[in-house]
Amino acid sequence: MQKVHQGESLKVWVERALCQGAELCVEASGAVFATDDEYVSFVKLAGDGAPTDSAEHAVVVPDEHQDDVRVAAQDCPAQCIRIIE
Ligand code: SF4
Repeated sequence: MQKVHQGESLKVWVERALCQGAELCVEASGAVFATDDEYVSFVKLAGDGAPTDSAEHAVVVPDEHQDDVRVAAQDCPAQCIRIIE
């Protein structure tokens, strides 16, 4: 049976110390991720300047972006996108 994700709680954060800057996360979910001046990813959904690089600062992902965030986490070459469900 296919798992239904709609309506489930999902949070995301990025372990920035491991990020390689490939920006695949931005390609997969540009509404959720961006990279800074040094091409290190952060969760832009959190708003300007908000820390998103630890579990305690994980950002709630709206339903419409959850599948894209899962793809980003799966495809991240550094495996540094952390999902909390
Ligand atoms: S895909 Fe992973 S390694 Fe690449 S920028 Fe995003 S978080 Fe960093």
